[in-house]
Amino acid sequence: MEFIKDYLAKRKNEDTLRSLLNLDTRGPGMIVRQGLKYVDFSSNDYLGLSRHPQLIDAARQALEKYGVGTGASRLLSGDLKLHHLLEEETASFKHKESALFFNSGYHANLGIIPAFSGKNDVIFSDSLCHASQIDGAILSRAARFLFRHNDMEHLEDLLKSERFKFDKALILTESVFSMDGDKAPLRSLVELKQRYHCVLMVDEAHATGIFGNQGRGLVESEGLSEDVDLIMGTFSKALGGFGAYLAASRLVTDYLINSARSFIYSTALPCSIVAANLAALEVCKNEPWRGPALLDCAQRFRTALGDAGWSISGDSQIIPVMIGDSTTALNYAKILLEKGFQVLPIRPPTVPDGTSRFRFSLCYEHTEEEVSAVVEAMKELKRYHEKCSDVKLQDRKR
Ligand code: PMP
Repeated sequence: MEFIKDYLAKRKNEDTLRSLLNLDTRGPGMIVRQGLKYVDFSSNDYLGLSRHPQLIDAARQALEKYGVGTGASRLLSGDLKLHHLLEEETASFKHKESALFFNSGYHANLGIIPAFSGKNDVIFSDSLCHASQIDGAILSRAARFLFRHNDMEHLEDLLKSERFKFDKALILTESVFSMDGDKAPLRSLVELKQRYHCVLMVDEAHATGIFGNQGRGLVESEGLSEDVDLIMGTFSKALGGFGAYLAASRLVTDYLINSARSFIYSTALPCSIVAANLAALEVCKNEPWRGPALLDCAQRFRTALGDAGWSISGDSQIIPVMIGDSTTALNYAKILLEKGFQVLPIRPPTVPDGTSRFRFSLCYEHTEEEVSAVVEAMKELKRYHEKCSDVKLQDRKR
């Protein structure tokens, strides 16, 4: 077990060691840790639906009616009408013929990608694709090529030189990137996938609930629902629930029921969760103002931090603020925590070396006062950051 000690010691030295927060409780935009309440800017509960009364009520009723667990996988006796209802509603929400419900986004990507690619096939994926997409691609045993983030010229070069050496080809992207908060050029991806005979899979984990008419996602808002073959997304983020979906043709979902191992070999999610997810889709339709209001707030927040001199990127409710090395990111997160703000620093290996960042994710339930207060804290931090940089510069000159 020496290797474990070495591994953990190395991570500690590099300030990239991860540990668990062990919270007393949490809610939309807030956490309580060791008896102290903090404003939380680290959750994906973007719309605050995890505590929406309609979701809680739906889950409670289903819990009483169906009990806690489902007892078996969907292919055995864990398959209930409620799962099918959720799939029908999801398909219609995403403007697709059919949908299949997976136990998590991670399960979905791990099951779908290998079902579409094997030893003689090829996968082209954006270099910033989520770990679950990368792991699905590795598991598939297909040849893999990464294109530079959102760089369509690079993708086309790779398609030209590699695509036709293989049988089937799959292109992977996220629609809103989880760590960078920017959007994929979906229209160009569709053009390329058509020209080079590929299947296009888009992960809408961070777009669903926020973008598009009533939160139907970025694919819908760009009018590409028909053109994107595989629209995957999660119920666990803006939708406040749990699990994930693939929206596609009936042919595809029939195929996955027979081939996606993470679907076949895992117990079906509880009906309480399924019912909450159904309620979340209803809330998106009935309260469509949440996503746009959040995006407005994010735009104001981004402008304020940019004006304060921070390097900001992204174009969504996710606002990355570049810090640099992981030690500084960790120290600054501690300073913010002392002021009552939980902003987790994202460090390698989740992001490349030297690009440690704060990933602010805003929540519909944050108050204006909370957002203004964290902007003030970030302004102060910037002044401190500059002072430290000046000292370092003078030290180097000496
Ligand atoms: N895809 C993306 C883009 C994600 O950000 C995540 C979770 N962070 C997942 C998939 C996995 O989803 P889940 O948490 O439901 O497993």
